[in-house]
Amino acid sequence: MTTKALSPSDGDDARRRIPATDTLLALPELASATGRVGRQRVKQAIVAAQQRARRGEILPGEVAAAAIAGLTRHATSLRHVINATGVIVHTNLGRAPLSAAATEALAVAAGATDVEFDLSTGERARRGRAAMQALAAAVPAAQAVHVVNNNAAALLLCGLALAREGEIIISRGELVEIGDGFRIPDLLASTGAQLREVGTTNRCSIRDYRDAIGPRTAFILKVHPSNFIISGFTSSVEVPELAKLGPPVVVDIGSGLLAPHPLLPGEPDASTVLTQGASLVTASGDKLLGGPQAGLLLGRSDLIELLRRYPAARALRVDKLTLAALEATLTGPPNPVGEALIATFESVLARVDSVTKRLSSKGIDAVTAPTAAAVGGGAAPGVQIHSAAVSLPAFLAGRLRAGDPPVVGRVENGRCLLDLRTVEPHEDDAVLAAVLRAGAAADPSGSTG
Ligand SMILES: *Cc1c(COP(=O)(O)O)cnc(C)c1O
Repeated sequence: MTTKALSPSDGDDARRRIPATDTLLALPELASATGRVGRQRVKQAIVAAQQRARRGEILPGEVAAAAIAGLTRHATSLRHVINATGVIVHTNLGRAPLSAAATEALAVAAGATDVEFDLSTGERARRGRAAMQALAAAVPAAQAVHVVNNNAAALLLCGLALAREGEIIISRGELVEIGDGFRIPDLLASTGAQLREVGTTNRCSIRDYRDAIGPRTAFILKVHPSNFIISGFTSSVEVPELAKLGPPVVVDIGSGLLAPHPLLPGEPDASTVLTQGASLVTASGDKLLGGPQAGLLLGRSDLIELLRRYPAARALRVDKLTLAALEATLTGPPNPVGEALIATFESVLARVDSVTKRLSSKGIDAVTAPTAAAVGGGAAPGVQIHSAAVSLPAFLAGRLRAGDPPVVGRVENGRCLLDLRTVEPHEDDAVLAAVLRAGAAADPSGSTG
């Protein structure tokens, strides 16, 4: 027997009775699981269960069962997290949570699949044609479409295939840093294209663009400033005017709205931008579209064909899982991102009130608080969405993150806020249970309240 599972510094008798790792590994259920998911994953599930017992969340006698239950979750070391941050598309939490339809599609596509095969003829078929058809159907203004790894890849491919030895004209007000230190101008420059910056940070006119056009111009790029706002003495040139200048206009709309959204009038969408004369639109699949990580390319068929046939396109292509999830997102019912966006304040408030009441009745210091939720993920900067949160003592924030499942809220003015707008309604009860567990663990130290 190993002493690893014991916590020598801990005087608590119950904690000493936590079964050791080797003892648990010898149990038939766990021993057989090593063949299925690997010894390392089984060990992780055991350690997680032992830690829960040490924290007092479960009894020593429940450790084996918790480890077995935990195994399904530990098929991957990624954890399912409940996003109660109030940021709908949270980049650090994997951006868009997929819809049930997309999740189902992933399971189907995981095995051998006809992603690139025509079952009627028995011959090779265009890869991912169903997803492409769904995308084309969603944006009739696009002559053709293509899908790559992400929006950054879409821009990279435009730079490589259309401007490798030429110039890309871009406004200085649109030299965007996407995040994590990555900047769109650097990305484009890495393709060998030259950036011809025009205008100033706050103002750019049609003349600035016109003066920059020359024999080396490959295309004009318009980038949606998706994660910041410039206000005050500003001007920029819109797509209809740019389209009249002559060179192709490529528009990076960022968030992936395919059509105008009534609640986000300031957010560009692929249909409108193409109708205004853009030659190509690039967008992310996992922001407001609510799908898997992907880069959408829509527009003129001659340009899409150039992109599709360019050698590097092969290095940027998406796998069968992405194609399956994208198709399901495009054809399926509203997804969690869309639902979180359109949920009325009253409906969120009613859910928060219900959770708050049930927590209060169990002696937890929980009150309803109005909040401002955000779209996030580089979309609709400055847009505040009227929302509501379960407001708890701040010290619960860490415990909720350490729980199972982890619940991620935010701490504001000394309170831990769980904004239910970004929680899928079917997970309200899981949030309630998580807070009760976190609150109960606080009791022995007497610091509740
Ligand atoms: C988010 C964003 C990108 C990067 O998209 P990825 O899909 O993360 O590669 C590029 N441009 C704009 C305007 C964005 O908002």
